[in-house]
Amino acid sequence: MIDVPGLDEHIAQFPVYEYRIISTDALPVDAKVRMVCQQECERYGTTWACPPGVGELDECERFCHTYPWGLFFSTVAEVRDVMDMDEMLATRFSHEEITSQIDAYLTQQGLDTFVLSTESCDICEECAYPDEPCRFPEKMHPCLESYGIVAPTIVEREEMEYMLGGNAVLWFSLILLRK
Ligand code: SF4
Repeated sequence: MIDVPGLDEHIAQFPVYEYRIISTDALPVDAKVRMVCQQECERYGTTWACPPGVGELDECERFCHTYPWGLFFSTVAEVRDVMDMDEMLATRFSHEEITSQIDAYLTQQGLDTFVLSTESCDICEECAYPDEPCRFPEKMHPCLESYGIVAPTIVEREEMEYMLGGNAVLWFSLILLRK
């Protein structure tokens, strides 16, 4: 398993709820996850961070396996009302910021990384998809679901929490790692 010096200390400064280094050997990938994107998400087919812009499912899976490990983690945010979708979605931006900062730390440690995170990309006011290439491929984080990754399966295997209840919201990222 890969060892990242100082990772515990770096992560401790953020509201990271739990994290694990996982092997990508048995990464749970299921076409049904992308089916849900297609059927239920209004962002499907509107950004380079979503299917089908991210590529075919088997290409995505092969790509993930070029990274032997991943840092899988959740951050926690408090909201006043978990039923208020706007309030809940607003907490996603701080998760993305934390993800970027952890990613920057990992690259400073000499690791090659690729970030999969939440929902779809909001960096540009209007996405370049599909007519022009992504304007910020180095900043853009495709969502875990766009790669067909079944986050609840990882959570269960790793004995992590998927939901906390009350007014707490958990967001998940997977930063793929290779030396
Ligand atoms: S960075 Fe801009 S062009 Fe790239 S996926 Fe995000 S919104 Fe689209």
